[in-house]
Amino acid sequence: MAEGAPGTTTADVVDLSSDTQTRPTPAMRAAIAAAEVGDEQQRLDPTVTALCERVAALLGQEAAVMLPSGVMCNLVAISTHTRPGHLVLVDRWAHIARAEGGGGAVSAGVQLEVVDGDRGIYGPDAVEAAHAPRSNYWPQLGLVALEQTHNFGGGALWPGDVFDAVVDAAHAREVPVHVDGARLMNAAVATGTDPARWGGRVDSVWIDFTKGLGAPLGAVLAGPREFVERAWAIKHRVGGAMRQAGMMAAGCLHALDHHVARLADDHANLRRLAEGLAALGVTTTPPDTNILFIDPASVGRGAGELQAALLARGVRTSVVWGRLRMVTHLDVDAAGVELALTAVAAELGRSAG
Ligand SMILES: *Cc1c(COP(=O)(O)O)cnc(C)c1O
Repeated sequence: MAEGAPGTTTADVVDLSSDTQTRPTPAMRAAIAAAEVGDEQQRLDPTVTALCERVAALLGQEAAVMLPSGVMCNLVAISTHTRPGHLVLVDRWAHIARAEGGGGAVSAGVQLEVVDGDRGIYGPDAVEAAHAPRSNYWPQLGLVALEQTHNFGGGALWPGDVFDAVVDAAHAREVPVHVDGARLMNAAVATGTDPARWGGRVDSVWIDFTKGLGAPLGAVLAGPREFVERAWAIKHRVGGAMRQAGMMAAGCLHALDHHVARLADDHANLRRLAEGLAALGVTTTPPDTNILFIDPASVGRGAGELQAALLARGVRTSVVWGRLRMVTHLDVDAAGVELALTAVAAELGRSAG
């Protein structure tokens, strides 16, 4: 494992804080070094073009555009779909609502219509409630956005029928649907579903390459060709038009070839982690994919204090609004999960199950 700065990943730490903590493998670095490149913002980078075509097909869409980050995909999509004053329907714990610095409000002038879902999943009734008749008075619902999988819901999966019902409810009212698919490939692998089954039904969708797919940089936003053309204008405006980005696209292509099927290992590791924690009397969210949350109160501890105690025992976690998050990924193997369970057992003074 590569060395890290103090307080981040070191050889002795099992880093369960986030799947963003992956480092490019030697094979990925070789692919990056060998990339053919050109000027991305003039659309002359052949590796970026290849990546965009591949992701568009993967997600059941006509076209796609590469951006440096997932946050920029959400921002560009919101700006492309909406007009100032529009409502954007999201779950209360959506990344768009909680973790993007209010970018939609600042850059697109939208207001978030925040609804309470179940681990991030809401139903068509939320669309119906947010939608107003055409009027200069009632703010108009401009976009419905959902996360597959839902990060702060604990890697939660949208069931296909609920997903379809929300999409149908939005489309019946001529409202576009955007899927934040930062971990859509986790959902695809966990359920054995073709990602186009979700992506092909909506008006924009993106996947992140810097989470479980393990690339250093890149996210790709897909949609109908005319949407992607309009998105390009926003990409330029927000400084997301790049130059020899094929270096980074090569890492993403490598990830599609080598890091998708193995997401099943991350899911198996998280299930083992959840079982082991349950045996220690620790309450967690269900292990749907590669993320779980621990309620520290279930073991009579505070979140920050438990996090520090586990770090001292070689296990790095993150704290999100009072809960401890553990995430499995490319750089955590089955042995790492056992080390983490041993550390939790030692910290709580219980024997590991
Ligand atoms: C990480 C994440 C993002 C942002 O992606 P970045 O590439 O880190 O900018 C957006 N949505 C969800 C659900 C995420 O987990």
